[in-house]
Amino acid sequence: MLYLCATPIGNLEDMTFRAIRILREVDLIAAEDTRRTRKLLTHFEIHTPLIRFDENCKATVAEKILERLQAGESVAVVSDAGLPAICDPGADLVRLAIDAGIKVCPVPGANAALSALICSGLDTKKIFFAGFAPKTKKNRREFLEKLSTTEATIIFYEAPHRLKNFLAELAEIFGEREIVLARELTKVHEEFLRGKISELLEKISEPRGEFVVVVEGKKFSEPPPPEENLLDFYEKLLAQGLEKKSAMREAAKKFNVSRREIYNALIKEQK
Ligand code: SAM
Repeated sequence: MLYLCATPIGNLEDMTFRAIRILREVDLIAAEDTRRTRKLLTHFEIHTPLIRFDENCKATVAEKILERLQAGESVAVVSDAGLPAICDPGADLVRLAIDAGIKVCPVPGANAALSALICSGLDTKKIFFAGFAPKTKKNRREFLEKLSTTEATIIFYEAPHRLKNFLAELAEIFGEREIVLARELTKVHEEFLRGKISELLEKISEPRGEFVVVVEGKKFSEPPPPEENLLDFYEKLLAQGLEKKSAMREAAKKFNVSRREIYNALIKEQK
């Protein structure tokens, strides 16, 4: 059996009884960072052998783990925090195990994305887990543009040093939306910052700690009258003497789209 075993995302009390038992009983624990996991295991008096399993060594180590699983041993995978295979190593191993006919078993527990979502106050019926946005600007913009039309609440992970830039791009591509920044979940300095993207951008100066960004999905407003096209409306505002920026803002509000979408539509029409 291959166990996918959750560990705390901050508060050690979030370790489950079952996780402790499974980690004691398995033959081997595959851990992203063995030093970090060793501390956790020591705290819970778990003495099972550890093997390093991270992005750099996963190809070779996965083979070793599979051999042991096929020989009848049981293995648990843990990441540094939360659920393995969620923006952490583990997913490839699960695929390989399934293909080799080995059973996989979840040992659920803490997870940053869902912990942030349930306290966000945003819609939880339709959700989209986006994980980390791509690091390169072009890929990131494409990624965000595709996501900007989903009605589902979107959950992102983001590193603190990239957060401000990420929020600025979100504001530009998504327009004004409600967001929640869930910071340091389950830790001493846990907090939830709520507001429009632009408001939170102003509020956070030097973000510190770990963040989950939960973003309201796109709201589809009443369809505009059929004779009224987005660009016609924009042109009409310009003809009334409005500055381009204000006309875009007004049109974006009326049609519930981002200014970038209007900009893209204008470029398309010029082609
Ligand atoms: N596997 C983990 C899970 O199940 O949530 C996620 C690991 S991912 C490499 C790390 C990211 O998760 C961080 O950059 C941050 O966005 C988010 N995260 C992890 N712990 C957190 C916490 N205590 N508070 C807020 N965000 C957290």
